[in-house]
Amino acid sequence: MPLLELKNATVQYNGTAVLNNLSLGIEQGEKIALVGQSGAGKSTLLNLLYQQCKEDAALVPQDLGLVRSLSVFHNVYMGRLNKHPSWYNVVNLIKPLKKEVDQVLPILIQVGLEEKVFEPIRELSGGQQQRTAVARAIFKDSSIFFGDEPVSAVDEHQSHTVMQAISASHQTVVLSMHDVELALKYSSRVIGLKDGDLVMNEPSGSLKASDLDGLYKQ
Ligand code: ADP
Repeated sequence: MPLLELKNATVQYNGTAVLNNLSLGIEQGEKIALVGQSGAGKSTLLNLLYQQCKEDAALVPQDLGLVRSLSVFHNVYMGRLNKHPSWYNVVNLIKPLKKEVDQVLPILIQVGLEEKVFEPIRELSGGQQQRTAVARAIFKDSSIFFGDEPVSAVDEHQSHTVMQAISASHQTVVLSMHDVELALKYSSRVIGLKDGDLVMNEPSGSLKASDLDGLYKQ
């Protein structure tokens, strides 16, 4: 049985279908890129799949869900809040514990944020905020990673580093992606959506960027 499975899934908003009768399976160890133009249904599909396994999964949602007044360290630490008793979390909130900072730092180094560790989120650029949300998801240490366009605001050089960090730390990865080249490079399979229909489901190795052009035409 696949790790994640949808059978004839349909999602409607106000009577309009945004996912039409969609069936697909995702096996453990796959790296999936969901592609398609804005409004095609990528976020809706990503969230549907995430709901199937959220106890074992980490998510970078489109709005990131960061606490703007707290530091990068505190936001990343939140990935493991439920692994500790409340008193421990409160102590760590008031004065970051060395043990926890030492565990968060290697992940911040991976995503290039080590110099921002105690900076509040509100003072970071959009790309830095995205990298914080990715670091929080990596810190959670789950086997499945979901991300809704998790590197869309990260500059090109760093987007590769962040994609490598996501891939290396998770067995199974499901990302909606707007950058076709990145999607092909870091996925094992591409799932293409158009107007809520699944119109592509191919191993990435058999695709080149121009094969995806049809997904973006009206
Ligand atoms: P994508 O991620 O590919 O941009 P989405 O899954 O976000 O696509 O959206 C698919 C369609 O569903 C869009 O037309 C969008 O406007 C609509 N939609 C998404 N969320 C809602 C919602 N909460 N209420 C109404 N319509 C929505």
